[in-house]
Amino acid sequence: MLRLGLTGGIASGKTTVAAMLRELGFDVLDADSLAHKLIEPGQPAYDEVLRGFGPAILDPDKRINRAKLAKIVFDDSAKLAYLNAILHPRVEAAAHKQFDEWSRNGNRPAAFIEAALLVEAGYHKNLDGLLVIWCRPDQQLERLRTRGFSDEQARQRIAAQLPTEEKLRHATEKIDCSASLEDTRKQVEALAAKLRQKTVKS
Ligand code: ATP
Repeated sequence: MLRLGLTGGIASGKTTVAAMLRELGFDVLDADSLAHKLIEPGQPAYDEVLRGFGPAILDPDKRINRAKLAKIVFDDSAKLAYLNAILHPRVEAAAHKQFDEWSRNGNRPAAFIEAALLVEAGYHKNLDGLLVIWCRPDQQLERLRTRGFSDEQARQRIAAQLPTEEKLRHATEKIDCSASLEDTRKQVEALAAKLRQKTVKS
């Protein structure tokens, strides 16, 4: 079973492509959901995050308030690096555990992990391939505007990630999400057919 990453710039179409892959029968792990589970009370990352950020990030029920945490790290790159150092290795380990299980219990040609910061975190080095989703920067801006972001907020978020061209340099597969959804679907179907034949490039 090929272990593949799925990444791309913010609002490029990652979630849309992941949903299409799932419809076609491929499993796609979501790094965000894995990270959320890792900071639940009782999980090892919970204590570490709490030690670093203090009780102000807790809700009354003692759960970590992710919106508060996100706000703190968005304004402070040292704190973001601290949080990433706690979460990234654990997310990667959890993903590989799930991949191992799928690999043992099935005959899937491939499975994916979707993560916005996959290349930034260096995960791609431990995977069999990387699918990079992309669209034009003006489309990213427009899609973020549709979600209610101001132009400045949208630009900040785009600037907080590696440029798309940089991510594309690491791609073994690419999906162009700059045209219609139907066009995207055709590309995903072509990729699915290719994976079923296990002919992904490495
Ligand atoms: P985030 O970085 O916030 O997780 P994302 O990369 O997962 O975002 P999506 O949540 O898939 O991106 O959002 C992309 C938006 O662009 C969706 O609303 C989708 O319908 C729209 N869209 C328009 N045209 C296309 C296309 N050709 N392919 C994919 N998405 C498209």
